[in-house]
Amino acid sequence: MRRSPQIRADVEALPAPWRRFLDDAGGAIPEDRLVCDPLRTLAYGTDASFYRLVPRVVARVRSVPEVQALLAAARRHGTPLTFRAAGTSLSGQAVTDSVLVQLDGWKGRRVLEGGRAVVLEPGVIGAEANAVLAPLGRKIGPDPASIATCQIGGIAANNASGMCCGTAQNSYRTVRAMKLVLADGTFLDTGDAGSRAAFAASHAPILDGLAALRREILADEPLARRIREKYRIKNTTGYGLNSFLDFEDPQDVLLHLMVGSEGTLGFIAEVTFETVEEHAHKASALVLFPDVETAARGTQRLAGGGVSAVEMMDRASLRAVEAKPGLPKVLRTLPPDACALLVEVRAADPVGLAGAVERATALLDGVSVLEPIAFTAVKAEYERLWDVRRGLFPAVGAARRVGTTVVIEDVAFPMEHLAAGTAELQRLFKAHGYAEGIIFGHALDGNLHFVFTQGFSDPAEVARYGRFMDEVCELVAVRFGGSLKGEHGTGRNMAPFVELEWGAKATGIMRRLKALLDPEGILNPGVVLNDDPGVHLKDLKPLPPAHDLIDRCTECGFCEPRCPSRVLTLTPRQRITVRREIARLEGLDADRPGAPAPLALDAGTPGAPAPLALDAGTPGTAGPPRPRAAGERAGERGRSALIARLEHDYAYLGDETCAADGLCATACPVGIDTGKLTKARRADARSGLARGLAGIAADHFAWTAAGARAGLTAMRILPGLPVLREALPGPARGPYEDVVRGRDRKVVYFPACVARTMGAAPGDPDQRPVTSAMLSVLDKAGYDVRFPAGVDGLCCGLSFESKGFPRTADEKTRELERALLAATEGGRLPVVCDTSPCAQRMKATLDPRLLVFEAAEFVHDRLMDRLRFAPRPGPVALHVTCSATKMGLEPKLRALAAACAESVVVPPTGCCGFAGDKGFTTPELNASALRDLRAAVKGCERGYSTSRGCEIGLTTHAGIPYQSLVHLVDACTTAAPERPEPVREGEVARGAALGPSGVPA
Ligand SMILES: Cc1cc2nc3c(=O)[nH]c(=O)nc-3n(C[C@H](O)[C@H](O)[C@H](O)COP(=O)(O)OP(=O)(O)OC[C@H]3O[C@@H](n4cnc5c(N)ncnc54)[C@H](O)[C@@H]3O)c2cc1C
Ligand code: SF4
Ligand code: SF4
Repeated sequence: MRRSPQIRADVEALPAPWRRFLDDAGGAIPEDRLVCDPLRTLAYGTDASFYRLVPRVVARVRSVPEVQALLAAARRHGTPLTFRAAGTSLSGQAVTDSVLVQLDGWKGRRVLEGGRAVVLEPGVIGAEANAVLAPLGRKIGPDPASIATCQIGGIAANNASGMCCGTAQNSYRTVRAMKLVLADGTFLDTGDAGSRAAFAASHAPILDGLAALRREILADEPLARRIREKYRIKNTTGYGLNSFLDFEDPQDVLLHLMVGSEGTLGFIAEVTFETVEEHAHKASALVLFPDVETAARGTQRLAGGGVSAVEMMDRASLRAVEAKPGLPKVLRTLPPDACALLVEVRAADPVGLAGAVERATALLDGVSVLEPIAFTAVKAEYERLWDVRRGLFPAVGAARRVGTTVVIEDVAFPMEHLAAGTAELQRLFKAHGYAEGIIFGHALDGNLHFVFTQGFSDPAEVARYGRFMDEVCELVAVRFGGSLKGEHGTGRNMAPFVELEWGAKATGIMRRLKALLDPEGILNPGVVLNDDPGVHLKDLKPLPPAHDLIDRCTECGFCEPRCPSRVLTLTPRQRITVRREIARLEGLDADRPGAPAPLALDAGTPGAPAPLALDAGTPGTAGPPRPRAAGERAGERGRSALIARLEHDYAYLGDETCAADGLCATACPVGIDTGKLTKARRADARSGLARGLAGIAADHFAWTAAGARAGLTAMRILPGLPVLREALPGPARGPYEDVVRGRDRKVVYFPACVARTMGAAPGDPDQRPVTSAMLSVLDKAGYDVRFPAGVDGLCCGLSFESKGFPRTADEKTRELERALLAATEGGRLPVVCDTSPCAQRMKATLDPRLLVFEAAEFVHDRLMDRLRFAPRPGPVALHVTCSATKMGLEPKLRALAAACAESVVVPPTGCCGFAGDKGFTTPELNASALRDLRAAVKGCERGYSTSRGCEIGLTTHAGIPYQSLVHLVDACTTAAPERPEPVREGEVARGAALGPSGVPA
C-alpha cells in the first residue's frame, strides 16, 4: 500500500496491533476509507452519549465482504470492532478506542407485499424508511424520537422505541428476518432457507449452545417467570432473554437476540420488518392533573383503551417550556405538584377518530383534572401541544451551564409503580442537588426519561453523579422491579448494573451467550456486559467552552443528515467536537498536578509522547483495550504540536468544506448554526488588506460584476474546468429597464448580482437569463416592473458575508435597503428577488417595511391565478435550496412545479454544497453532496431550482440541465383572462396614479 508521508507518520504512531490491522485491512478496503489521523478519529468517534473514546482506526465499509475482511483482521490482531450507524446512542455503546466501523452507503430499501413488510439496509434513516412507506399508509414499528437521524442498524441493534410503539411494535416484535455477519465472518440470511440450512450444517455448536441455554431457562421456572414478567414493560438492559422463551428454533432465537445486542453479537447487514398501520387522522389533548398520582391513575385507565400515545410530563417539565409562544397560558399558573398527560388517538377516518376521542374522554371520567379535557384534531393545534413535549430536552439543553452536559436517563416502572417511582425520582433529584431535573416519558409503558445537567470536569461532580446513579438503580431495579434501560440500550452506562437488575443467574446466561457468539471478544467489548463496576464513571466526555455560537451543542447528531460535507469531511457535530477538543487542549495546564491525561489521539502527533500503553492490545486478548495514562502526559511541546496539527487539518476538513449554508440549524434542537461559526472564523482570519480589498470591490460593485462576467468567459477556455462545460453559464447583461404599461399591479424587481452576472449555460433548454424569464412571467401576469435605481451596483451583501467580510456585507445591505425603500415608496410595493439565498438574506436583514418575495414564492402567492398553466409532459426534477427550506418555501415550490409538469421528483438532497462559488473552488464538496442525485432524477429530462449557482452544480452532477423554476413557469404559462383582484395590504391601491417609471404622479 502506498501512503503519503503524513499518513505514514499517523500509521507509524499507532500501537503495533492496529498498525498490523491497518496493513491487513488495506488489502480489502481502499486506503481513503481507512482513517487514523488525530482529527478524524476524534471527530468520527464522537456520539451522543457523554462518553469519549477515540478510535485508533476508523474504517468505512460498503459491503458484506469488506465487513468480513475487517472481522478477519480484527481476529488476527486482537483489535476489536465497534459498528456505527448514526451515532445517536446515549449510553456509550457506539464509541470505542479500537476500530470504529462506519457504514458508507447501505441505503438499500425494498417494499414487500404492498407495504406490509419492508427490507432495509442498516444505513437507511428511520424517517427515510417511513417516507417510502407513507404513501401505502404504513410505517416501521420502532419510533424513537431520534427517527429523523438514527439508522436501521442502530434502531435494531438498540431495540429503540418511542412514544407509540410500546412493546408490541418494537424491532423485537416486528423483525421478520435479518442478514447477519457473525464474529467468525459467517454470513447468515435468516430469511433464506438455503442459508439457514448451510448455517445449521456449519454452525451446529452455536445452535446447540443456544438450544442448551434455552433448555436451562425453561427448566428454571422462577427464572422463566421473571423473564416473562420483566418484558411486560420496556426493557433494553442486557440481552433480550425473552428470545429464548418466545422462539424455539435456535436460528429464530439468534435472530431476535440480535435485536438490542448493541453490535456485540454480530453485524446486521439487512433487516426485514413487518410494518404497522399509519393512521392518517389524529387528535391530541393535553390533560392536566393535580398531581402525579392522579395522572398515573389516568394512565392506568387509558392503558388498553385504544389510545396511541400517553406522554407524562411532571411540573418541572412544564415549567421548563411554559414560556414558549403559543402554549396554553394555564401552564404558567399550575399548582406546584401538577402533572400533565399528552394523549393522542388515531384512526383511519374522521368518524373513527371522533369515536376514539369519545372513548378516551370517557375513560378519564371521574378522574380529577384541572381543566376540561379538550381534544383537537386541527394539525396546527395538536402540533403545538406536541411541541411542548418535543421542547423538553432542548429546553434543558439550552438552559444548561456551559461546560456541563445534558444527561437523559431512561428507566421503566411496572405500571402499578409509576406514580411512586416518579415521586421517588423527584425526591432523588432534590437529595442530590439536581434542581433543574425534569421527568417525562411514555406513561403507557411506564417508561420515564429524566433529564438533568451534569458537569464531569470536577471529580466531586463525577462522584455526585455516581452516588445518584447508585440510588436510582437500587430504586428502579430492586425496589420497584423495573428496567434500568427502557429504550436507549445498556451500553457502558448500565453495564455495571445488569446483574443488579437481572440477578446472577440471568446475567450468567448473558455472559455465556456472548462467549458462544463472540469467543474472542472482538465485537464491541465492554458494552452490555462489563466487569468493571465503575465503567459508567470513566471516559467521560469533556465539554469545554469553545465558542458562544456552539457551546450549547449536546452532540446529539440530529444535524448530521442535513450537512453537505458529511461524507467528504466533517459534519456540524464533528466540527464542534474538534473545536471543543482544541479549546480543551489550549486550556490544559500540562504541569498542573492531576491535569487530565491526554486522549489517545495525542499519540498520533508528531512530537507527541510515545503511544499510550494498552492493557488489552495484544492479539487474541478479549476485553476492551483501554488507554492507560501510565504517568505519561503530553508535555507543552507535544500539546502545541497536536493543536497545530488539528488546526492545520481543520482548515480544510472544518472550514473550507463547510458550505456555510446553515442548514444544520434547521435540525438542531438548540438552534445551533455551525455555518455561523465558520463565517465567524473566516471573518477572524481576514487581514486588514483583504478587508480593504473587499471594501473596494463593494464600492465598485458594477466593476466587480463585470470582472466576474469576464471570469466566466475566460473559464470556458480553461483546461480542467471543475464543472461540466455545458453547465457553465455565459455572462448575463442588462440593461434593466422599468416596464411601464400603465397597469395597476406593480412590483419592484431586484435581480440578484448572480443573476445579473450569470446567464444561460450552453446546455440549457432556455437560452435566456432568469431576468428575462422573470420579466416575461410578470408581464403575462399583468405587472409593471420597476428596478431599484443603480441596480448594477447593488448587492444584498450575502457574498461578502459568507467570505468573512460582515462589515462590508452590512454596508451593501444598507445601500440596497435605501434603494429599495425609494423604489417601493417606503414599502408600498412588493419586492421580488430571483435568487433564493439573496431573498432569504433580504428578508432577514432589510427594513421590515419592505415586503420581500423570493421569485417562485411571488409567482405562487401572487401570480398563479393570473396565469394559465399547460403542464409539460413527463417528470421534472426540483431542487429545494437551503435558503428555500429555511424560508419554509418547499410546499410552495412543490405546488408551483406540480402546476407546471406532469409529475415532480424532489430528491432529498439537502444542501447541494455549491455554496456561492465553492462549486468552483472546492468542487469535491459539491460532488460529494450530490453523489446520489443522478440516480434520484433518473427519468427526468430537466431540473429546476431557485439559485443560479446551485443550478451549475446540479446540472454537472445530475446529468440533466437545471434552470430557474421561473423558466419552467414561463415555458408552460400564458396570461389568464383578466378578472378583478382584491387590493392587498402593502401594495398601491388599484387605480392609484403612477408616473411613467412607476413613481407616483
Ligand atoms: C435527543 C435524542 C433522543 C433520543 N430518543 C430516543 C427514543 O425516543 N427512543 C430510543 O430508543 N432511543 C432514543 N435515542 C437514542 C438513539 O437515538 C436510538 O437508540 C437510535 O436507535 C440509535 O441509532 P443510531 O443509528 O444512532 O445507532 P448508533 O448509535 O450508531 O449505534 C447503536 C448501536 O448499534 C450498533 N450498531 C450500529 N449499526 C450496526 C450494525 N449494522 N450491526 C450491528 N450493530 C450495529 C452500534 O455498535 C451501537 O451499539 C435518542 C437519542 C437522542 C440523542
Ligand atoms: S449542533 Fe445541534 S443538532 Fe448538531 S449535534 Fe449539536 S446540538 Fe445536536
Ligand atoms: S453550514 Fe452547512 S456545511 Fe456547514 S456545518 Fe452546517 S450544514 Fe454543514
